[in-house]
Amino acid sequence: MNDGNSISRRQIVGSAGITLAAAAAPAFAQAATEPPAAQPLQDPRTKYPQPPFPEQSQPWPGLAGKMEPRPDHGETSYRGSGRLAGRKALITGGDSGMGRAAAIAFAREGADVAINYLPDEEPDAKEVVGLIEAEGRVARAIPGDLRDEQFCQELVAEAVRALGGLDILVNNAARQQTNPSILDISTEQFDWTMKTNIYAPFWIIKAALPHLRPGSVIIGTTSVQATDPSADLYDYAQTKAATTNYVRSLAKQLAPKGIRVNGVAPGPIWTPLQVSGGATQEKLVSFGSMTPLGRPGQPAELGSIYVQLAASDASYATGQVYGAAGGGGQP
Ligand code: NAD
Ligand code: MG
Repeated sequence: MNDGNSISRRQIVGSAGITLAAAAAPAFAQAATEPPAAQPLQDPRTKYPQPPFPEQSQPWPGLAGKMEPRPDHGETSYRGSGRLAGRKALITGGDSGMGRAAAIAFAREGADVAINYLPDEEPDAKEVVGLIEAEGRVARAIPGDLRDEQFCQELVAEAVRALGGLDILVNNAARQQTNPSILDISTEQFDWTMKTNIYAPFWIIKAALPHLRPGSVIIGTTSVQATDPSADLYDYAQTKAATTNYVRSLAKQLAPKGIRVNGVAPGPIWTPLQVSGGATQEKLVSFGSMTPLGRPGQPAELGSIYVQLAASDASYATGQVYGAAGGGGQP
């Protein structure tokens, strides 16, 4: 029996007397479980690879499976405890990075999961589908380009059909390209970033809203770039400010409908986005070294944050942005 239960029982016996204590006893007996085995402490500075990293470059959008070292999305480490049992989730960019970490964690917490990704990312997506199905959950892979409004509508419709509804929407996909000067960004590139990062969540949320009942949640992946933009991410950084902003606006708008809206703001995380044009080679080699923890985060270190924001026991948290930046950043 854990500490919480023994304290409650003492309080009940003390305050309500023998009759209530006797009535409560069978419930306590039922709740008793084996205490979990003690886990060794892990030093967050040395838990995962530290810079320097090997130089590497992939064509956009990149594959997690081709990164060196391979990112950890919680494939072997995430353990669930039924926190999202019966939930139905749609995650964009669910093939790799934070989206894959959320997909694995959601499935292990008992949710059925649909993921969206680009057709070039099929090898990564196949792995995620296998991991979701290994938990005995429904997995649905829905490839397609989010810059197309009609596809965004079809994506939501297909996820609802395949899962039998929708309770959790994670707008996580994004486009990020480093450019030293604003003069290097063509109108086409600027539009690509805006369509992926701002328009797609707008279209997807509009399509999803009629399906979301009270208790449902929307989560947006924003960034430390929302509040501390880098010089070389002029277009991307402003989309992340927009993401943080839509989370806060929509949380107020949807609270009267019982729908919560929150954000996750990562710092430097080891994902394909960074090795497929998102960062310079110079930045990649020393990636994460500027954070107080001295290394980049791994997607696995954020999976539990998405779970926490989606879980119904976080019912008073809406309009919040949860940072994970290795000690830097103020979301
Ligand atoms: P990632 O490359 O693993 O994920 C991004 C995903 O976006 C891709 O897997 C791809 O499926 C999807 N995507 C991009 N353009 C698309 C399009 N047009 N249509 C459909 N899908 C498209 O990288 P990640 O770092 O895990 O990115 C996930 C989120 O995290 C993004 O919102 C990103 O802005 C945010 N983020 C990342 C970092 C970091 O350092 N990696 C830091 C802060 C925020
Ligand atoms: Mg990917």
